[in-house]
Amino acid sequence: MSALIIDGKQISADIRGEMVNEVAELKQKGVTPGLAVILVGEDAASKVYVGSKEKACVQLGMYSEVHRMAADSSEEQVLALIDKLNNQDSINGILVQLPLPKHINEKAIIDAIRVDKDVDGFHPESVGNLVIGDDSLLPCTPAGVIELIKRSGVDIAGKHAVVIGRSNIVGKPVAMLLLRENATVTICHSRTANLEEIAKQADILVVAIGRANAIDSKFVKPGAVVVDVGINRLDTGKLAGDANFESCKTVAGHITPVPGGVGPMTITMLMKNTITAAKKANGM
Ligand code: NDP
Repeated sequence: MSALIIDGKQISADIRGEMVNEVAELKQKGVTPGLAVILVGEDAASKVYVGSKEKACVQLGMYSEVHRMAADSSEEQVLALIDKLNNQDSINGILVQLPLPKHINEKAIIDAIRVDKDVDGFHPESVGNLVIGDDSLLPCTPAGVIELIKRSGVDIAGKHAVVIGRSNIVGKPVAMLLLRENATVTICHSRTANLEEIAKQADILVVAIGRANAIDSKFVKPGAVVVDVGINRLDTGKLAGDANFESCKTVAGHITPVPGGVGPMTITMLMKNTITAAKKANGM
């Protein structure tokens, strides 16, 4: 048996196709969704991510501003820019590219973003809203995971979902979203005893560990959906997920590849959040 591949690139392209039309309709009504991205410093990977976000905005016909700040910018300078963007009507979403230089307090920066412009979904109030089931902008990668599962025709309700990883940006919010979709959810982490046994009970297995190829077919129940959030750069320069794709696909029913699975969804969901924020700001 070989699993069906969940094609994140294609699903992402489908969603972006839908969004192009939505943005065009909004613009006809005088609303242009606008995203501001703040990049502090010269981190090579961050520069690439910011470039991709800018490109995605342009492709969808959205307004985009990128604020590139020197690595030695002070926390006050970044906070002052956030304050300006919080009050700028043309901007519906504000994203601060992480990680920030060490002398800047990441939490202070995230907390300063207005909740209705928090398109990364990392503000404590956004997280709280997600947990209690109130309307909020959802963190992009976790929202992308749910969208991939749904668009693959898999019903989440009633399934046993096991999430491996409990970070604030992936594991915990994915688990909350799966719960909201009425899965029965188990969260595993580095101190979990019998990880293999628990993972093997999963109908839906989401892997967000940050260790290349840590999960193989022994952890996978026959027919399970395996969603691999991991992005690891191997010594060879190639990218690998946290799940061993070749091994897991022999047992899984559906599986996301790396690259080309969850990765492309993150920016797409960021664009979706910016559109949602723009609609809300304009009473739509
Ligand atoms: P973190 O390092 O913040 O969290 C890793 C989690 O995995 C922790 O909860 C840790 O447990 C757990 N863990 C580590 N080792 C094991 C193990 N051997 N068995 C079980 N659990 C383990 O990583 P992130 O959540 O930020 O990222 C996870 C992966 O997702 C990374 O590869 C990252 O690159 C990728 N990623 C991809 C994105 C995308 O756009 N596709 C976006 C964000 C991340 P504990 O809490 O006990 O330490």
